[in-house]
Amino acid sequence: MTGRIVYADNNATTMVAPEVRDAMLPFFSDLYGNPSSMHLFGGQVKKYVEQAREKVAALLHADPSEIVFTSCGTESDNAAIRGVLAAYPDRRHIITSRVEHPAVKNLVQYLGKNGYRVSEISVDRLGRLDLDELREKLDADTALVSIMWANNETGVIFPIPQIADMVHSAGALFHTDAVQAAGKIPIDLKNVHVDLLSMSGHKIHAPKGIGVLYIRKGTHFVPYLMGGHQERGRRAGTENVPYIVGLGAACELAMQTMDEEQTRVQQMRDRLEREITSRAIDASVNGDPENRIPNTTNISFKYIEGESILILLSEAGIAASSGSACTSGSLEPSHVLRAMGIPFTRVHGSVRFSLSRYNTEEEIDYIIERMLAIERRLREISPFGRDEMHAQ
Ligand code: PLP
Repeated sequence: MTGRIVYADNNATTMVAPEVRDAMLPFFSDLYGNPSSMHLFGGQVKKYVEQAREKVAALLHADPSEIVFTSCGTESDNAAIRGVLAAYPDRRHIITSRVEHPAVKNLVQYLGKNGYRVSEISVDRLGRLDLDELREKLDADTALVSIMWANNETGVIFPIPQIADMVHSAGALFHTDAVQAAGKIPIDLKNVHVDLLSMSGHKIHAPKGIGVLYIRKGTHFVPYLMGGHQERGRRAGTENVPYIVGLGAACELAMQTMDEEQTRVQQMRDRLEREITSRAIDASVNGDPENRIPNTTNISFKYIEGESILILLSEAGIAASSGSACTSGSLEPSHVLRAMGIPFTRVHGSVRFSLSRYNTEEEIDYIIERMLAIERRLREISPFGRDEMHAQ
């Protein structure tokens, strides 16, 4: 270790913002009431839960009554999908994309083995959704379409307003996993007609273990967790008050810093990407360059192993992530990059850098310098990579 630490894995999780931590602290000491209690302890904290709900609603341009607090993005995705299917038991078709996060992908695949018909819509080489295929697959049996707003690996943004309209003309409901989009790009649910939307606190500088499910007013939905009457009967379980308050503060901050995300963070991402791809021996960007969330870049280094790159980056104090399913300890190549038709020689050598407003230009310089040195070092020891280097 050099002693220097650069965190560039913000799509995996983010640092809790100091303002968020400060907002939460009183709820670990004096303000410990249960918001459902009739006495003053309850009333005291209930007020803060409702203020947080208003802040989340403001970020999404939704009505506070449409916001349901959950434990994470995964729970929101599961509750949305299972909740709609349970409300429309006669419809047996689900549509999703081939590049969803496992929180949607694995559930839908499970449902596919348990009585549902599943269609997975393809993407092209740049990760763009095939809208013609979606139009063809929609039928009178389709209960739900679940398609993410922005991809966690490549950052590619799908045309959600257009998809929502297409799904509704076919009479189905539309859920979007906006875990990587919310707080990074503007979302206006007054004008974009999604029925259900998932988000997660720990991607926007709130703690891990808090999420949101937006359910548009009037949407038929059977609750996933049944029990008490919390969240207007849509999600039972005593509210996680400190984290809800933290999420409210994080949403408020995200609204204030959205411009910075689209300018300073995006400029840092673009410079990182440009310098690496122009100076590396063989590096290329994965994903539609015109349509990505501002903080994410996914770069493939042909013929070298993403895992090896990550280990050396980590030794240099840089936290990034690979396209591979490294979390499960397997070397399974990324289903997202494979769905895009990226050749294996590039899929295996992919690295994702995801920035946040806490990164600095100096850190970007450091990543560029270390990344280029690591590429050269790994090519020296890889027979294919060496050929590539000497062909230069
Ligand atoms: N959906 C997407 C697109 C994600 O990136 C993630 C987390 O990486 C999730 C869902 C799951 O969110 P959580 O970790 O809050 O369960």
